[in-house]
Amino acid sequence: MKRLVILGGGTAGTMVANKLRAALGTHELHITVVDRDDAHHYQPGYLFMPFGIYNTSDIVRSRHRFIDDGVELVLTEIDRVEPGSRTVHLADGRLLPYDVLVIATGVSPRPDATPGMQGKLWGEKVHEFYSLPGAQALTEAMRRFRGGRLVVHITEMPIKCPVAPMEFTFLADDWLRKHRIRDRTDVTYVTPLDGAFTKPVASRELATALVDRQIALETDFAVEHIDNDTSELVSFDGRRIGFDLLVTVPLNMGADYIARSGLGDELNLVPCDQHTMRSLAHPEIHVLGDAGTLQTSKAGSVAHFAVDVFVHNFLDDFNGRPATHGFDGHANCFIESGNGKGMLLDFNYTTEPFTGDFPLPVVGPFKLLKETRLNHIGKLAFRWIYWNMLLPGRPIPMIPTAMSLAGKRVEKDVTAAGTGMPTAVAPSSPAPAPRVTSRPKVDATALAKPRPEPAARPPHTPVPAAAGYTDRPGVDSAAAEVLATPIIPKF
Ligand SMILES: Cc1cc2nc3c(=O)[nH]c(=O)nc-3n(C[C@H](O)[C@H](O)[C@H](O)COP(=O)(O)OP(=O)(O)OC[C@H]3O[C@@H](n4cnc5c(N)ncnc54)[C@H](O)[C@@H]3O)c2cc1C
Repeated sequence: MKRLVILGGGTAGTMVANKLRAALGTHELHITVVDRDDAHHYQPGYLFMPFGIYNTSDIVRSRHRFIDDGVELVLTEIDRVEPGSRTVHLADGRLLPYDVLVIATGVSPRPDATPGMQGKLWGEKVHEFYSLPGAQALTEAMRRFRGGRLVVHITEMPIKCPVAPMEFTFLADDWLRKHRIRDRTDVTYVTPLDGAFTKPVASRELATALVDRQIALETDFAVEHIDNDTSELVSFDGRRIGFDLLVTVPLNMGADYIARSGLGDELNLVPCDQHTMRSLAHPEIHVLGDAGTLQTSKAGSVAHFAVDVFVHNFLDDFNGRPATHGFDGHANCFIESGNGKGMLLDFNYTTEPFTGDFPLPVVGPFKLLKETRLNHIGKLAFRWIYWNMLLPGRPIPMIPTAMSLAGKRVEKDVTAAGTGMPTAVAPSSPAPAPRVTSRPKVDATALAKPRPEPAARPPHTPVPAAAGYTDRPGVDSAAAEVLATPIIPKF
């Protein structure tokens, strides 16, 4: 019997396990899912916690409840993968042999990667909402906030759900107005990108939304460190942005075991084929969800569509047929815009987000890149869909795996200049300074924190890489040596 091991029982890992279990009997395929604990987090819910809309019990469920009984669930930390012997080493010493391996361990926020982020202001004036403890602490900080300079900041791309910081900004604006302290608060959105979003039409629409709310936009901001004495974000080109409350999205990185296994790039993401999600180095390894290098958003919707493609191909291969499906990079994301409204983005590798109707032309009912109440209801309804349809692997009506152009108002001139971007409000406090052109580098030494060394490991035998693939060492926080100057890709 074939053995499929799935590393990570989050969004992608749970879906793929359930879909394959439904398609193949336990006598045909043995499926094992490994995760460190039994708590499945609905991560989009972190966004709502600081505003009192959701609390912890709304977004955490027992992981095993959502994984089919015909799937073996192993709860422990993953130590490393040995592709040569097709074995996963678990932190408790157990070994899991596999025929096919799916890596679905996602990415996590790494505040330790930016100097000063976890300084004395961490948890006081410096917060994040990309983890449950972070969202819980920020809930308290929002309750205490009485006005001043609120700065929302992205450290570096790629991050999961790249629109979440923008949503936080919109929700904060709304929340400050309702608490009658908006007129006492300067809100600044600080991004390493050259616009409000990665693509021109979405950037134009989102920048307009920022201007309407008098939210300042600071672009091309590559953070060098956080000054805990002056409460300022400091960029590599010398700009300084002062804050009374900083809500940052730390660098997002794949799991350390990816680096220990020699499988990742400098962010511990596993280089994979853009259409099949197959590892470029090891054909029996696939990467689903945020853990790979797909050039599209890291989002639950992307995980969903990519899992559909993978399952088709897996079943073809299992039955001795050539695999025929290819992933197109489809992403579909609701954006909360505050005041009971939301927007919607739908795009793929080749079609950027446009305005229009979704999923049906004219009737919609959702509007692309426009603020509507129905989009907001769609976003809130997604939590129910996530637990009851997405994770169990049930089909979601009207949402196709491949992106459709139906209903989209395709714009021809979509260069940044061609979109007629509005001029954003100037931030209140950055000091003007000459700009340097070089991108920032992650201070990898900050990642090299001493940690207890895991149980003794046998020497790692390098596996020959596939043609066209360049093996890179990645960053293992527990290792003594890390890359001196890793280059951070921008998508
Ligand atoms: C604030 C926020 C808002 C978001 N909003 C949206 C949204 O509106 N729409 C949307 O589509 N997406 C959204 N997302 C993104 C979405 O949650 C992720 O893209 C999705 O969960 C990725 O799925 P995944 O399976 O790749 O990773 P995850 O769901 O993160 O699962 C990874 C699993 O691997 C496990 N794991 C990791 N390392 C190890 C290890 N060493 N040993 C054992 N287990 C390990 C983890 O415990 C986890 O369970 C949001 C994310 C955040 C943080």
